Amino acid sequence: MKKILASFCFFSLLLAAACAINPVSGKYELSLISEQQEIALGKEADLEIRSQYGVYDSSSLNEYVKKVGLTLAPHTHRPHLVYHYAVLDTPVVNAFALPGGYIYVTRGILVMMNSEAELAAVLAHELGHVNARHSVQRLSKLLLVQIGMNVGSALSETFAQISGVASIGIQLLFLKYSRDDEREADALGVEYARKGSYDPGEMVSFFSSLQKLGDLSGGHSLPGFLSTHPLTSERIQNVQASLIESDRQLMTKPTAYLKSIANIVFGDDPRQGYVEGNTFYHPGLRFSFSFPRDWKLQNEPSQVVLASKDGKAATILQVEKSSENLKDYASSKAAELENNYFINEQSLTINGLNSFQHLYDIGRPEKETLRARITHIKKGAYIFSFYALSTSDDFSKYDFQFGTLVGSFNELRDRSHLNRQPQRLKLIQANGRQTLQQIFMNSGLKKDLWAKMAIMNGMEIDQIPKQNQLVKIVR
Ligand SMILES: [Zn+2]
Repeated sequence: MKKILASFCFFSLLLAAACAINPVSGKYELSLISEQQEIALGKEADLEIRSQYGVYDSSSLNEYVKKVGLTLAPHTHRPHLVYHYAVLDTPVVNAFALPGGYIYVTRGILVMMNSEAELAAVLAHELGHVNARHSVQRLSKLLLVQIGMNVGSALSETFAQISGVASIGIQLLFLKYSRDDEREADALGVEYARKGSYDPGEMVSFFSSLQKLGDLSGGHSLPGFLSTHPLTSERIQNVQASLIESDRQLMTKPTAYLKSIANIVFGDDPRQGYVEGNTFYHPGLRFSFSFPRDWKLQNEPSQVVLASKDGKAATILQVEKSSENLKDYASSKAAELENNYFINEQSLTINGLNSFQHLYDIGRPEKETLRARITHIKKGAYIFSFYALSTSDDFSKYDFQFGTLVGSFNELRDRSHLNRQPQRLKLIQANGRQTLQQIFMNSGLKKDLWAKMAIMNGMEIDQIPKQNQLVKIVR
């Protein structure tokens, strides 16, 4: 319901078209959204982003990013805006900004950086997008996106509605900036970083590392930095050309930065769920279920989504704390689906857990009717809801697979699955004699991570780090 309301507000905002002065260019442009509306929109979308992707659980790291951001804000073209900063709990490498001054970096992008000035450069680039109102302009190009899943067009609308990808905040993240926007944000980023006393040259080293690593967003619902901020060699050259001699005198602060990210979670965090074979385990919420071998699974903080290989069947699992009676809970959830036609319902027990299941057809004007089998399972303080979706014509083909998937839902008790811990970033002080590769080898770092870790350290694998230099490894 919240999501439907959000899109309604957005479309009513669109009606208030007017001409406004762009804060950066000083030129008049057709602006669909006033600054007040822009801030309101950002605030609404911020809640969606936080609930969908989760904020990283370290107040000191969040404070550190905010402190660097606050150093830059007074030097922007819109210093009166209240800027908000957050570290998102995902291994995806990205940084992005929402209208109104909401700026995010992922823990995945933080492990890539090697100095406070690199962080400042990325924040300054995002501040550039906010100040030039690029994201506001992008709103007029709003499209309904299909998340990285292979969900066929017949299912996409209803799928998007249930899974929340139809909400504005989430869609904004999938829109690509244009080359001109990127060029402008880079130039503003250099300007803001320099005025904030950070060496803007660090933007070059960071962009080069990103380029070497390629797009790391694969397999996650959040797109990566390179897919939303197209990075070209020309961009890097432009930034390089805009540097001046005195920039080198400015702050870089590698040690302060590295110490602030020491111990940060690296890669996927198994405590938030992981797949082994064709079983999904969630140690945090203590459950597991199995899914058909050729289906794709995507684990998000707010839900798990699955799709068949042909994209004609999908299942969404959502979890909510609720003390409501299962049948009442089921009716309130069904009421959120528009044009639903009740078919049947039953109470059942799944591996000893009380459950309630109902079947609906969902009518859509001039489109195939969808069928949804919704199963709510009570486990402890939580209700787990599986939405199994297909067209009503295809439903019988997938019904057995839906039933097997939901029927395999079980309490997770096995210690070996419950006690999985994530890998974390550690720092090693170099002795000035060993190469990066020797340091990796001695630390027990797996060989398949060497190349990536070298890039993450901004070095070549055969280079010798200086004495006392901090080297990143994972453990
Ligand atoms: Zn950008």
